[in-house]
Amino acid sequence: MSAPPRTATEAVEAIRAGQLSARELWLACQAAATDDELNAFTWVADADDGPNEEAAALPFAGIPLAVKDLFCTEGIPSQAGSRILRDYRPPYTATVVRQLLDAGASLLAKTNQDEFAMGSSNENSAYGAVLNPHDRGRVPGGSSGGSAAAVAAGIVPWALGTDTGGSIRQPAALCGIVGLKPTYGACSRYGMIAFASSLDQAGPLTRSVADAALLFSKMVGRDPCDSTSLAFPEAIELPRSERLDGLRFGVPDELTGEGVETGVRAAFEASVALVEQLGASVERCQLPHAPHALAAYYLIAPAECSSNLARFDGVRYGLRVDSQDGSLEEMYSRTRAEGFGAEVKRRVMLGTYALSSGYYDAYYGRAQRVRTKIAEDFRAAFERFDFILTPTSPTAAFELGARTSDPLAMYLSDFCTVPMSLAGIPAISIPNGASGGLPVGLQVVGPAFSEPRLLDAAHALELAHADRVKTIALPSPLRFEGNENGAAGARE
Ligand code: GLN
Repeated sequence: MSAPPRTATEAVEAIRAGQLSARELWLACQAAATDDELNAFTWVADADDGPNEEAAALPFAGIPLAVKDLFCTEGIPSQAGSRILRDYRPPYTATVVRQLLDAGASLLAKTNQDEFAMGSSNENSAYGAVLNPHDRGRVPGGSSGGSAAAVAAGIVPWALGTDTGGSIRQPAALCGIVGLKPTYGACSRYGMIAFASSLDQAGPLTRSVADAALLFSKMVGRDPCDSTSLAFPEAIELPRSERLDGLRFGVPDELTGEGVETGVRAAFEASVALVEQLGASVERCQLPHAPHALAAYYLIAPAECSSNLARFDGVRYGLRVDSQDGSLEEMYSRTRAEGFGAEVKRRVMLGTYALSSGYYDAYYGRAQRVRTKIAEDFRAAFERFDFILTPTSPTAAFELGARTSDPLAMYLSDFCTVPMSLAGIPAISIPNGASGGLPVGLQVVGPAFSEPRLLDAAHALELAHADRVKTIALPSPLRFEGNENGAAGARE
């Protein structure tokens, strides 16, 4: 075989060209997933369960896919990182996963995550923290941390995550890969174990923008099982742009100032200069309500989670802890007390309070009004700009344990990603150099259903950034070429 593929797109091409067998790739990834030391997986398929001959003819040619634990997969543990769903095996598969398998992806693994996708560090998983492959003393970001770590480490070509307030983009940034949060409604939520239904979206975590486009192209579409899903208005092609000529970028003061660490800011400023070099104009702009996004999000998301998680009652799914006095009520409370972790309990309590009679208008109603204002800010900005640029995360990966005792510090990790989630608009994080030797992300944001143009712009930036991208030298079934340290992450 000539040079081993570095991305999913290249792997598909190599299989098509007869230079690589899907089986060979599967076995290498399966072995790497089995030997994983990052705690990125909650389940790994058997070596024998790989792609069959026919898969090679399908669009994804049988290449392996890892999916976040909270996607329901028929007969396979789908635990959402929670003890309350330990070994829960659903009777059906989530629509997006089904679509990807139908397109010829092979399900290799389920990935570790923060419990019910609540978290920014992957330390809230009942199955243990995930380690950042760039520095094992640090977090990979969350809540799709297992997916991000697995892709960054080269264990799988690509993976599926979900993003409610930043859970695809922030771990992508902290692990030095690409993460796309699609427009709300672009992908079906059917079979995704719900956190906050008005915000949750599935999306790709990949090693290149082209891979994100390729995976996303098979995820979109209206699903009769999800009434909030819509047909995507156009086909998603592989991005090809190398320039940004004539495009207008806005840089919002509110998301690029205070709180952004020096190294992240320097990397961001370098990419602003690059955007201009590629032929686009860049102007500062305002999103006046964006600083209130976190406060609104931390009312809306807990409110929705308190309702969604009411179904985990010890009767229908997963764990049951019997009562001692024989009462149903005690069985409920003992089950939930043992089944949920601290962060989930905190959010259920916050959400229940925010929705309670007498407080509903003051908290939830108010937060919804702020949400509308945030969406209006973006709408106004997109009258002047094609895209908005921000850092993805105010800091690079932090040390394990650094924020676990301070929920508010943890919540600040999502400062730059939550506004887009509230507005339902698409945003992509691409690698953007390093701060203190750790990867940093650049977030590009567009209006609803602008993914084809967003991916194109991100592709041009990715090409221009290639020499600044921080990849890693780790044993890998796929191959990373030169990174900024001059190392090649290939298993020869
Ligand atoms: N970190 C945010 C939270 O804890 C976002 C999580 C997510 O996007 N799933 O809610």
